[in-house]
Amino acid sequence: MSKCSRRNLFKLAGAGSLALILPTMTRFGEALAQEQLDPGDAQAAALGYVHNTEEVDSGQYASHEVAQKCANCQLAQGGDGEWIGCAIFPGKLVNKNGWCSAWVQAQG
Ligand code: SF4
Repeated sequence: MSKCSRRNLFKLAGAGSLALILPTMTRFGEALAQEQLDPGDAQAAALGYVHNTEEVDSGQYASHEVAQKCANCQLAQGGDGEWIGCAIFPGKLVNKNGWCSAWVQAQG
């Protein structure tokens, strides 16, 4: 094996390692960048967001039903854990059992 081809082999190995590590680092960074939505946040409060759908003020939101929750909302953006993304609150995580007045039944 010549010097040149050995050098190329090391370059390829380094690039391959980066290709494996970078997606993991990016996902880790995204997870760190998202924090749980504070129900006291101005936009959250304006939409009546709560972490638990059973705590919705039925006097204020008469059409709310306990079966409505972030986990079955069309605006939820996935996630398997207790905290999931939401199109209404970018960069924040909502509780899968939460609710706000923008709730829309998920299709499918
Ligand atoms: S829009 Fe849907 S997913 Fe987002 S906070 Fe409201 S109920 Fe939850």
